[in-house]
Amino acid sequence: MIPVRTIAMYCFDPRAAGAAQAVAEYFGDEVYPGELLLDETGRKMGSTATVFPLIVGGGRAADALRSITVSQHLFGIERVVVVHHSFCGATSFTAEGITAAWKHEQHTDISSLYDWDGISIADFEQSLNYDVSLIRNSPGTPKHIEIYGLFYDIDSGELTEVVRDVPAEVA
Ligand SMILES: [Zn+2]
Repeated sequence: MIPVRTIAMYCFDPRAAGAAQAVAEYFGDEVYPGELLLDETGRKMGSTATVFPLIVGGGRAADALRSITVSQHLFGIERVVVVHHSFCGATSFTAEGITAAWKHEQHTDISSLYDWDGISIADFEQSLNYDVSLIRNSPGTPKHIEIYGLFYDIDSGELTEVVRDVPAEVA
């Protein structure tokens, strides 16, 4: 059994590695990392974790949309949490800077390859709002889910809610 309820996306920066557990504690009704469930022969049959980490550069949603679709199909999910963290490397470059450097170093034009607004981070309130909207407006996102945008302080380990997008109950 896979009792997953929540997808928590956050950055691959090792300083942000505590984000999944922080998300579980933030909501209170979640379990992470949980325990593996074994059958009588010792095979791994599942886990008690209800949070699945989705670790991508910057914790940006552009890299996570397909996994949300697949998770809903396989397990059914109720909540998606976007976590952006303090001192993230995504704040240290701009679209113009990376495309110019790429042209110089790799001799390739990547200026129209990605949606650059969804990659670097200039402002955390803006980036979290952007990513929550990107997820909400994707046809590959189940309509019933709650979506949160949280800021993670890597020093204190504290989460601050910046965006909450919870659909109204359908009568
Ligand atoms: Zn980061």
